[in-house]
Amino acid sequence: MNINHKDGLKLNKMEKKFLRKQSKARHVLLKHEGILAVSYPTQSLVVANGGLGNGVSRKQLLLALEKCGPMEALLMPPNKPYAFVVFKTIDKSKKAYATLNGKEIIDDLGQKIILYLNFVEKAQWKKLGLQALPPGLLVVEENISSEDEKMLWESVNWTGDTGNQNFQKSLKHRRVKHFGYEFHYENNTVDKDKPLPGGLPDICNSILDKWLKEGYIKHKPDQLTINQYEPGHGIPAHIDTHSAFEDEIISLSLGSEIVMDFKHPEGVTVQVMLPRRSLLVMTGESRYLWNHEIIPRKFDTVQASEQFKGGIITSDIRDLTLSKHGIRTSFRFRKVRCMPCNCSYSSVCDVLSATVGLLHKCVFLLYAF
Ligand SMILES: [Zn+2]
Repeated sequence: MNINHKDGLKLNKMEKKFLRKQSKARHVLLKHEGILAVSYPTQSLVVANGGLGNGVSRKQLLLALEKCGPMEALLMPPNKPYAFVVFKTIDKSKKAYATLNGKEIIDDLGQKIILYLNFVEKAQWKKLGLQALPPGLLVVEENISSEDEKMLWESVNWTGDTGNQNFQKSLKHRRVKHFGYEFHYENNTVDKDKPLPGGLPDICNSILDKWLKEGYIKHKPDQLTINQYEPGHGIPAHIDTHSAFEDEIISLSLGSEIVMDFKHPEGVTVQVMLPRRSLLVMTGESRYLWNHEIIPRKFDTVQASEQFKGGIITSDIRDLTLSKHGIRTSFRFRKVRCMPCNCSYSSVCDVLSATVGLLHKCVFLLYAF
């Protein structure tokens, strides 16, 4: 009797703890996201902790939800710790509410996550604004063959001693190698008077000729930076220095896909998928005005449908899931600028400071002689 009594108490405590957590989830959803839970059963549920932002993929959540019955939709907003599920009938959503509440599932990193479900009147989500590529940006899918990818990938010797430390560097979030000119991270430019011996690797010649012929570039690049990113690595938001490089900046993705964020100075962010073997071409506004960055994380939010490959990640939350980062190497080609920048984006252009720098150098030379 006593044991039963104790068990009863223990269950009560757990129930109380669960109710507290469920109510907290409801409170947080209302306060931070404006999502109002209701106390009566509906077809729709908000699943707290079961979101892409929590490392839960569409596949994993579906696995748990499918056991409760057929669904109309599973909406997974990007970077949010919750999802919405709409069941075909109220009976099925009631079943999910009863069986999955407080249940543990394993996220994509193998960590345990406890789900808290609440009924909602409507699965609601504010759509993101602009959904178009930044002007001047192009993603060319399947630009090189798997054989060429392998050849380029294997041509990079990360372990070998190049005999010159300036060629290769381990940055905080990636490994880099420079050809043609060394890129100086302290001032984000190159020393135009000091080209590196050897120029660009010969292996790049045929591929550069192909891009010139196909019209993706008008000028042959003379500087190459090879970046290697491990999962969790990234590159901080930046605009390639105007005074250092010409208009066309191109980047070839090898080994693994990645999502690159493009940010307009007025606040719009566009997420662009760069599949492996794709070529990213940045010209005009996308090269001069928009910041680009790879956020250091282990997963990207991507389209779930098979037919989607490169380009913009839409905000269609019926079709989003997670993609695990792999090792990615990028070949970024640029042409060192000879004349001062004449772009029309003065708010982000360093033409003035670059010219002042040049004047100082001239004055110094005058005095020196
Ligand atoms: Zn400029």
